[in-house]
Amino acid sequence: PSSEYEELRRRIRNNVQETWYYINAELSKLRKTIDKLSYEQREKKIQDTLKNVWDHKRSLIIDIDRLIKTDGYDEWRKKEAKELSDLVQRRFRYLQNPNDCNKARKLICSLNKGCGFGCQIHHITYCFLVAYGTERTLIIRSKGWRYHKDGWESVFKPLSETCVSPIGASHANWPGDSSKQVISLPIVDNVYPKPRFQPPSVPADLAARLEKLHGHPLVWWVGQVLKYLMRPQEHVKKTLNDAKERLRFKKPIVGIHVRRTDKVGTEAAYHDIDEYMVKVEQYFDELEPKPEVRRVFLASDDPKVITTARNRYSNYEIIGDPEIAETASVAKRYSDSSLQGIIIDIHLLSECDYLVCTFSSQVCRVAYELMQTYYPDAYNRFASLDDIYYYGGQNPHPHQAILDHKPRKEGEIELKVGDLIEVFGNHWDGYSKGYNTRTSMTGLFPSFKVKNPVDAVDFPKYPHVPL
Ligand code: GDP
Repeated sequence: PSSEYEELRRRIRNNVQETWYYINAELSKLRKTIDKLSYEQREKKIQDTLKNVWDHKRSLIIDIDRLIKTDGYDEWRKKEAKELSDLVQRRFRYLQNPNDCNKARKLICSLNKGCGFGCQIHHITYCFLVAYGTERTLIIRSKGWRYHKDGWESVFKPLSETCVSPIGASHANWPGDSSKQVISLPIVDNVYPKPRFQPPSVPADLAARLEKLHGHPLVWWVGQVLKYLMRPQEHVKKTLNDAKERLRFKKPIVGIHVRRTDKVGTEAAYHDIDEYMVKVEQYFDELEPKPEVRRVFLASDDPKVITTARNRYSNYEIIGDPEIAETASVAKRYSDSSLQGIIIDIHLLSECDYLVCTFSSQVCRVAYELMQTYYPDAYNRFASLDDIYYYGGQNPHPHQAILDHKPRKEGEIELKVGDLIEVFGNHWDGYSKGYNTRTSMTGLFPSFKVKNPVDAVDFPKYPHVPL
């Protein structure tokens, strides 16, 4: 290791200790004095303490990020990420381009799910994963698509250069059996039995490498499928480049996605733009070196969000297109211009350095998944104001306790190392809520005491594709 690395490593350890000294001392002092303090004094004390704790945290994070740059493995991470991506992309091309389409085994998936773009992209992704798991070429039926009557290929490259015909000698509905040439797959909400290849499964033959490389292998895996599926047609490439130029999209930049209109009050809570901007500010505060301008790309289905943000945050350069947001309202949503808009927004969000959004929205989850294809490991480049990352319709996926926990206040649950916990949500206050399958208790526990294990499942290994 370099001496810089060794110095940093010690510094981080010492400063964790310093942080504890500080918090311990401040709370002990506060216990003695709190009764004597006026309201204003108490407020000031708490504000100052919070700022100081933030400084400690900020310094620790910056040092850890420096550690990553000085540990000597940066080249390895880049190389490994590229090799893994190249390998799975070769496998995808192999699967999708059979020599003889008349004899190829096929899986048919219709792009007719009654939902938005992100949801439909996830629908096709789930179909693709089942196709990969069953070694069948995925054929999508997309004529009459609600976003564009000409279908998928009006914006994205065809999934195959050799085989797009759904015709075959024998047909069955899922699950069918291997004697059938063509199998039709229903939407994930209606599929039975549930395919074990759907998320959160990742291929066992890649799992060990992925766990080493990436903080959230499932997101990496889904991102790779999107990289293959969402290859833009030439005119879309041009649209994307034009949009970047027109909006003056430049790094460093933070992406915000604010989902409003039909989602609010039905599937998600309302979050004011200020809540998003707190996270943006914290990101820039930790960023080294300090950028000249604090640039934000803001996408929403409500154009008012963009004007409000610009008025309130004149110290930021907020780019975004209210006209695109205008086309995103439910009334105008299922149209060609709306499709262009959502493709631009998702693409630009995915190219940002950091994402602030609500993971309850599939728009933001798609952007986060795509973002993974630009870095060896971008698992921590987000702040979600609500859900943790998940894949809609995913198979059950309990987290695993890695530290014991004894409840200290009402509402908390016990953890023993190895317990399987179904996590309902992270409250982003140090605690998550979940159900302990061993004790059948539901309640709060410290988020850091569980890990999100990888679901390695045996997929075909594609031996004909070179490693
Ligand atoms: P979810 O409903 O938020 O989970 O995501 P979906 O993608 O399934 O449906 C929402 C749809 O609303 C999107 O596909 C878009 O058509 C539209 N929409 C939502 N947010 C945005 C946005 O920021 N920009 C644009 N252009 N459209 C959006």
